[in-house]
Amino acid sequence: MTTPSRPPLQLDVKQAGSHDRPQTMCPAFGALRIGLRMRRIASVLCGSGCCAYGLTFTTHFYGARRSVGYVPFDSETLVTGKIFEDVRGAVEQLADPARYDAIVVINLCVPTAAGVPLRLLPTQINGVRIITLDIPGFGVPTHAEAKDLLTSVMLRYARGEAERGPVQAPRGGRNQLPTVTLLGELFPVDPVGINQLLSPLGLAAGPVAPVREWRELYAALDCAAVAALHPQYAKTAGEFELAGRAIIPSAPVGCDGTAAWLEAVGRTCGSTAAQIDAAKQAVLPAIAGVFAKMPIRGTITVSGYEGSELLVARLLIESGATVPYVGTACAQTRWSAPDHEWLVARGVTVQFAATLEQDKAAVDQVKPDLAIGTTPLVQHAKELCIPALYFTNLISARPLFGVAGAGSLAQVINTALGSRQRFEKMHTFFAGVGTGATAGGWIRPPRSVTATLQGAHPC
Ligand code: SF4
Repeated sequence: MTTPSRPPLQLDVKQAGSHDRPQTMCPAFGALRIGLRMRRIASVLCGSGCCAYGLTFTTHFYGARRSVGYVPFDSETLVTGKIFEDVRGAVEQLADPARYDAIVVINLCVPTAAGVPLRLLPTQINGVRIITLDIPGFGVPTHAEAKDLLTSVMLRYARGEAERGPVQAPRGGRNQLPTVTLLGELFPVDPVGINQLLSPLGLAAGPVAPVREWRELYAALDCAAVAALHPQYAKTAGEFELAGRAIIPSAPVGCDGTAAWLEAVGRTCGSTAAQIDAAKQAVLPAIAGVFAKMPIRGTITVSGYEGSELLVARLLIESGATVPYVGTACAQTRWSAPDHEWLVARGVTVQFAATLEQDKAAVDQVKPDLAIGTTPLVQHAKELCIPALYFTNLISARPLFGVAGAGSLAQVINTALGSRQRFEKMHTFFAGVGTGATAGGWIRPPRSVTATLQGAHPC
């Protein structure tokens, strides 16, 4: 393999970014979403009213259809410490075992900074587990990493329960085959596809963590291995390691990624060489066929804050695209090492804990045919007349793994790549709008208005 020769990108524009100050949405949103998606879990926020309003608004925008508990405070309750008693009172009122398995209480920025000690709450009330965590914007860099935080805290609690005695079985009973727990937020069809990939190895797909129900935590722990499909779930992976479970890095993306992943899973779980070969033969020709049938031609930059950016870049490159830059707001972890190495070997600049400034600098220097990124990055690209796609809604909400993943990006990417002419038309049409006198702020009243005002009656 020859490494494409590209001039290195100049990304030393970092001033302060995702891991110094938040550049993504409020990180607590990540944990709140995980809790709201679980059955029989109550979520309670403690923080400023404006933060709680924004967080509940966003969760309902994303279809939560569940109530969010809120414990307000003022200067007096904060200074005297009464806020802690208010939280305790709220949790005691909510702790009805007929309705809830657990209550998740989240300290937002102000109570965290003030040191409101949620850890002093009881660990269970009336048999309802009390899960507490601090998720301030100044301490947890991205909402993706906040999801990891809540998942890991719940897993730790469940591990303690499993170590102390018998726990609930999965709703559908235990799988007869050894299972691989899938770590990451997956598109609904992905676990089905991964189960098919695992079948020739004599294995089955286990629960997806973050889970949808407390009892699934025990089933997630009861596995042959854990697939860290989304590498930012590092704290959760650490909890699985403490339970003695092996972690498989990277994911079954494209031909290379799927082959390496099947090898790693098979070797870890004791599959035979013949089973590993059979598993590869069952899927690799089909993936290669999809790439050949639905190629992507063009230069694309990828950035986002979901944690799956490196996997998306791998798929794009195997589809035929040129990807000079991948930026992810998430931190580098052990579980993205194979993807990082694969991309660097192909001349890709990979930036972990990337700032918006770095993502923009990459777009400015590469001048891609398509920029994939966050809302402000997409806006920046469009101002430069570069077609752009929002990573979160348009890219990460698609299957990525196995055969389904190989073909899932081509249509949306190729449509966007073909829209440059439309962008040029819009660019010409809107030229100058939003700058100078059309920026929306009047530096001084227009002359005719001034004249009218001067002649106007004082009342
Ligand atoms: S101030 Fe903190 S808690 Fe409030 S919205 Fe911002 S990051 Fe979130």
